[in-house]
Amino acid sequence: MEIKIIPCLNDNYSYLIFDKIKKNACVIDPSEAKPIIEVIEKNKINLKYILNTHHHYDHVGGNKELKEKYKSKIVGFKEDKDRIPEIDIMVEDNQIWKNENFEAKIYHIPGHTSGHIAFHFFKEKKIFTGDTLFSLGCGRIFEGTYEQMFNSLKKIKDLPRDTEIYCGHEYTLQNGNFCLTHDSSNLKLKVKIENVKKKLENSLPSIPTILADEIECNIFLKAKDLKSFSKLRDLKDNF
Ligand code: ZN
Ligand code: FE
Repeated sequence: MEIKIIPCLNDNYSYLIFDKIKKNACVIDPSEAKPIIEVIEKNKINLKYILNTHHHYDHVGGNKELKEKYKSKIVGFKEDKDRIPEIDIMVEDNQIWKNENFEAKIYHIPGHTSGHIAFHFFKEKKIFTGDTLFSLGCGRIFEGTYEQMFNSLKKIKDLPRDTEIYCGHEYTLQNGNFCLTHDSSNLKLKVKIENVKKKLENSLPSIPTILADEIECNIFLKAKDLKSFSKLRDLKDNF
């Protein structure tokens, strides 16, 4: 399974995953159609599925155009069926979604939105976390409670430590600066931020990140209890 990271809009990432032999592909969270179409045409692949982590426009903006152009099927959370544009296939928490050579476990991870899900390609050890877990940060709580977000992050934290995390935005450096203000003696965090800076200076994405790094450096995953998590989340909103 090959992955192409496709920058969209200002700071979004869409991801195209494809089977190199069959040339079948899924796109995760197409913010807009144009940059996705460019990659599809260049690599001559068939866009079979569009996977959405949540309904926000910067994650579903390309749904309609891509579906019309490639006759792709759109996969989203059952309880968000009225908010995911053009949805075809409805998935539930803990379900295994399997098609072609793609196989992912669905996790319902509410907090950012009530219907947010993650797609975990467990055989490849890759998870697409949308706006729930970012590298060195987590999403804003728009529709859920602090407790829901805390528990959603816990679900991801419990995956194998060598899992690769692909999130919805390039927020890593700002997130890292926030982590540093609360965890200034964390050497591993400092090294991670230096590596991120180098990548960004070379116009490379800081994504994917590895779960083990996040567990050691991401202050939201390090939060011991709901109370300290909630406090950090409030502070981050005003950072
Ligand atoms: Zn969002
Ligand atoms: Fe977003």
